[in-house]
Amino acid sequence: MAKIFCVANQKGGVGKTTTTVNLAAGLAKIGQRVLMVDLDPQGNATMGSGVDKRALKLSVYDVLLESASIAEAHAKSDKLIQAGCSYDVLGANRELAGAEVELVDLERREKRLKQALAQANDDYDFVLIDCPPSLSMLTLNGLCSAHGVIVPMQCEYFALEGLTDLVNTIKQVHANLNKDLQIIGLLRVMFDPRITLQMQVSDQLKAHFGDKVFDAVIPRNVRLAEAPSYGVPGVVFDPASKGAQAFVTFAEEMVARIQSLKS
Ligand code: ADP
Ligand code: MG
Repeated sequence: MAKIFCVANQKGGVGKTTTTVNLAAGLAKIGQRVLMVDLDPQGNATMGSGVDKRALKLSVYDVLLESASIAEAHAKSDKLIQAGCSYDVLGANRELAGAEVELVDLERREKRLKQALAQANDDYDFVLIDCPPSLSMLTLNGLCSAHGVIVPMQCEYFALEGLTDLVNTIKQVHANLNKDLQIIGLLRVMFDPRITLQMQVSDQLKAHFGDKVFDAVIPRNVRLAEAPSYGVPGVVFDPASKGAQAFVTFAEEMVARIQSLKS
């Protein structure tokens, strides 16, 4: 049975897409069967996984509108297959922005993705959903489908404030739409231990959220930022880089957390 996680934070530019594609590649590297779902019309996770968003014949849009199944609509990247880190990609492009409006009048509109994923349940160990930076009908579809939310965050002054909104949203979705939903963990990203403020915020996070803070820490690393322009995750682009190694460590931690959830 697939474990489904949303990578969410309503702030833009906090590292959601970088986390999604590199965790997907890290999990694939350690032998997990992974589906990456891009729910952001910008399609960055699609491009960053080596799939050309402009050439998609079918996408997550078709799945949300129930005109295709995930088995029909997913794509694969040759580059990732060659690198031995292949995962399936349910891609997105600008067309997805229209789904927001088109879904409004449809029934079960927030559960479309969940229903589609139920049919793909046996095909994957992990499903990772890259959410857009807003609380839209698209994000709601992600949150309704998931067992847990991974929250990437930068250890900056306003980080905790932004978290309160997200925690409240997750509580509401939990109460009204998805009893399974919980924050599986907070992931410190773009971390620089030389910056005193970042260490302080990191300590505050641990004090507030305890073991909800992942042990793995993703450093600020230019190789992770360069990788998307080559159409691969950092884990594939430069496996020896600090950023890539941190994401493989994070993938191992996720596998261990899942096992402890099951037992
Ligand atoms: P989001 O999806 O939340 O908008 P992105 O993952 O697109 O955020 O990241 C925003 C920017 O920060 C991108 O340019 C990305 O390459 C860069 N970035 C993300 N994580 C790191 C990191 N650990 N080190 C360096 N740059 C990073
Ligand atoms: Mg993004």
